[in-house]
Amino acid sequence: LRPDAAAYLEGLNPEQRRAVETTEGPVLVLAGAGTGKTRVLTTRIAHLIATNRARPYDILAVTFTNKAAREMKHRIGALIGPAGEGMPWLGTFHAIGTKILRRHAELVGLKSDFTILGTDDQLRLMKQVILDQNVDEKRWPARALSHAIDGWKNRGLGPEQVPAGEAQAFAFGKGAALYTAYQARLATLNAVDFGDLLLLCLKLWRENPDILQTYQSRFRYILVDEYQDTNVAQYLWLRLLAQGHRNVACVGDDDQSIYGWRGAEVDNILRFEHDFPGAVVVRLERNYRSTGHILAAASGLIARNEGRLGKTLRTDDEPGERVTVTGAWDSEEEARQIAEAIERLQGKKHPLSEIAVLVRISAQMREIEDRFVQLGLPYRVIGGPRFYERAEIRDALAYLRVTANPADDLAFERIVNTPKRGLGDATLQQLHAYARAERVPLLLAARRLCETDELKPRVRSTLRALTESFSRWARSVETQPHSEVAQTILEESGYTEMWQKDRSADAAGRLENLKEFVRSMEEFPDLAGFLEHVSLVMEASEAEGAERVSLMTLHAAKGLEFDTVFLPGWEDGLFPNQRALDESGRAGLEEERRLAHVGLTRARKRAKLSFAVNRRIHGLWSSTIPSRFIDELPEASVDVVEAPAHFSAGASRFGRNPAPFGSSYGTPGWQRAQAAISGRGFGASAGGGRSGGPSGGPRQIEGELVAKSTGSPSAFQGG
Ligand code: ATP
Ligand code: MG
Repeated sequence: LRPDAAAYLEGLNPEQRRAVETTEGPVLVLAGAGTGKTRVLTTRIAHLIATNRARPYDILAVTFTNKAAREMKHRIGALIGPAGEGMPWLGTFHAIGTKILRRHAELVGLKSDFTILGTDDQLRLMKQVILDQNVDEKRWPARALSHAIDGWKNRGLGPEQVPAGEAQAFAFGKGAALYTAYQARLATLNAVDFGDLLLLCLKLWRENPDILQTYQSRFRYILVDEYQDTNVAQYLWLRLLAQGHRNVACVGDDDQSIYGWRGAEVDNILRFEHDFPGAVVVRLERNYRSTGHILAAASGLIARNEGRLGKTLRTDDEPGERVTVTGAWDSEEEARQIAEAIERLQGKKHPLSEIAVLVRISAQMREIEDRFVQLGLPYRVIGGPRFYERAEIRDALAYLRVTANPADDLAFERIVNTPKRGLGDATLQQLHAYARAERVPLLLAARRLCETDELKPRVRSTLRALTESFSRWARSVETQPHSEVAQTILEESGYTEMWQKDRSADAAGRLENLKEFVRSMEEFPDLAGFLEHVSLVMEASEAEGAERVSLMTLHAAKGLEFDTVFLPGWEDGLFPNQRALDESGRAGLEEERRLAHVGLTRARKRAKLSFAVNRRIHGLWSSTIPSRFIDELPEASVDVVEAPAHFSAGASRFGRNPAPFGSSYGTPGWQRAQAAISGRGFGASAGGGRSGGPSGGPRQIEGELVAKSTGSPSAFQGG
């Protein structure tokens, strides 16, 4: 025991301390955001080790993301010092499942070097299985069946366990047969999908009680963070493992369950008390993260949900600044406002690492990133690549680069067989050999080789079509707007179609990113200017250093905290998402509301919401209305600092909400904002916003929080 061993306990409140010190038996901490649940888990691990109840080796801790696992390791290290005995097993369900399966692979019919298939490979395999089974892929596309199988796996069901009725409902009664065939294919390939990582552990343990027992006696203490987002398979996994000693501590918040679409079940919280009778249930009610107004706004919002266990949250912190709501004419202006606000904060010595921008969908990131790059604001994207680094964007860029510069061999190589055209490695080798010998670029080599009879006829005709396309596209760039040419290229090359036909879960997001990509080109005078901009952005990504703004989706922000949080895009149709609005029940909308709640509760001191009244949706400009979630925020904790002019005019434009923002927004701040902006002369017409430079212009609004845009002209402004 280190002399100050108990120092880590001192900062805890009595309930937290109880959750830490109840080391034996099941413990469930059910508490709201920022109440210290994660801190309880970390301290608990430190406590188990410091009091010699356990060696790190005896502990298993499950986090929701790899990033969270790294952070927890770091914090434990800080609490207990460099422990000689290493670290506990600490990681996501998938990471831990993988580790276990590698050790016993042969018992579940695998070799220990099995591969883990990503979504794309999984779908490709599924397609083969569908063909093999003579099922009409048009009626039962791979995506639908993969989704069904994922769903069964999330519920812990192998092919034999799927209820007959459910399996019958798929693929003309062949649901179970396809599932079985799919698993057989995986086995021959020595591969697993994500769902298998847990399902096969369950199988392993059920069929080999002795192995289960070794794990049960090894992991004498089990801890789980973000418990509300576990699915049934994960739950069964935990229950098996913890059955003997029952030393399992789970922490969660039903109001932060945001992965229902991936099979998470909040009911696991209720199940816990049932399966682990006598569980000590700890409720934490004090929020240590956020100021009063932020907490009040978040609590007021989530109170609108019906399906919740309900809890109170309080803070002893100052009320602090109210949550601000800023309207923008369009998403570009919104991005500019955010970047300017960040620069102002930076001027007041606000560390950039304490600022986050949380978006609903990744396509929202493009304009914000562009703005940051233009201003030289360092940033990083968490939980995914930066916009221009996404695979689909790099592919699209490669097409444009070859169009602009036929000698760009790297770009040519990237797309010569994307989408698949039957121009494989052998062809590419031929091209390379010829290009080297003749000292010409690949595209020219291709063109010349097509004039010879060195290529197989089929390859020759495909390659000729491609080289001719590039010549044609290069000519169009001379005469047509470059964004239109880009659109044409993506269509004629079959690239867009490739993603349209793709049934993987992220295909829709990729198509959305491609549209955003084409749209972003409009902001540049010509193709060369655009490509130069992109290479600058890519280069900027190499800038290192800790002082960076964080940009990520709301889903990726779970568990994190920042002093200042920007929440753009609060518009109906974007957030809440249109799919949730189209759904008949309340479930989808309630999950969106929980997501909004997660977003707000990431902020310690400042939460800044915004919306744009014009946004491109599926490539078309539409006028949007502010998110219903804005209406649902308690008036006393919200400041409307700025809004586009035509809001004041336009009751009738808001079908849902006759008075802008509803009557609750008749606050002095709101009226002042309206008055100040009414001089901006926005046209109120929907759809035509791009021409004529909609944004900019002086704004004489008073008050600390108000954006005083200088309206500085920028190369980014269209028109
Ligand atoms: P979330 O639901 O968002 O994951 P959480 O319940 O896990 O939140 P933590 O991240 O553990 O909350 O804690 C939120 C913040 O409050 C952290 O900065 C943490 O250090 C701080 N905190 C927690 N408990 C205390 C305490 N007793 N005294 C001071 N600060 C605390
Ligand atoms: Mg947490």
